[in-house]
Amino acid sequence: MVEIKNLKKHFGELRVLDDINFHIDKGDVITVIGSSGSGKSTLLRCINLLEIPDDGEILLHGKDILKGELDVNKHRAKVGMVFQSFNLFNNMSVLKNCMIGQMTVLKRSKEESQKKAEQLLATVGMSSFIGASPAQLSGGQRQRVAIARALCMDPEVLLFDEPTSALDPEMVGGVLAVMKDLAKSGLTMIVVTHEMGFAREVSSRVVFMDSGIILEEGPPEQIFTAPKNERTREFLSRYL
Ligand code: ATP
Ligand code: MG
Repeated sequence: MVEIKNLKKHFGELRVLDDINFHIDKGDVITVIGSSGSGKSTLLRCINLLEIPDDGEILLHGKDILKGELDVNKHRAKVGMVFQSFNLFNNMSVLKNCMIGQMTVLKRSKEESQKKAEQLLATVGMSSFIGASPAQLSGGQRQRVAIARALCMDPEVLLFDEPTSALDPEMVGGVLAVMKDLAKSGLTMIVVTHEMGFAREVSSRVVFMDSGIILEEGPPEQIFTAPKNERTREFLSRYL
């Protein structure tokens, strides 16, 4: 479904992505792990076109999104993203946050957008906060709204960049539970995370990034119990 070929990205002299290759099939959950600065966020940001790679290809259903004309907003509906810092609109209610993109980008009617928003806010357990402002919510509640907002766009793939890293510990479980349900429902997901329990339980494949390259990739049983690379072993030992 998404295929990444020879992806490269520099920031000045710094080589942040150095020849990244991987693919994700429909229904896969890929978790991306690795040290701070290894390029995980930059990789997701390239797939979402928040960064433009220097070189390489990002194929969505076989078509290179870096070539030719592309409606970036439509692309970001298909390839949604959930951020560490939620990025909700604080001047809009929870419900409106989940409607606005549907109306502006997908040209859905107000009624249809509202129906969809209510349905997905229920899925993430946020029905009783529909009229609230995001500012009134806890971090975990905000993140669940952000997930509902992304789902309202009927994404083909949803990217998560450390969705629980900014949360108080007691909020993490609720967000991970929502993500596990989504994974089980067959949603295609790429998740950058430090939650190794989640990665182990939910991933189809784990990708270990180190200094801008994919150093190792494999099924969770293999990566967590028998990593082939010394750096992977060293990284994972910090979580034991
Ligand atoms: P973390 O776990 O801390 O989130 P990461 O693996 O997500 O790290 P990236 O955010 O992708 O890492 O950053 C990779 C490298 O690129 C870092 O050295 C970072 O400082 C640098 N970098 C990221 N974005 C920019 C930017 N816009 N301009 C300059 N350098 C950047
Ligand atoms: Mg990051």
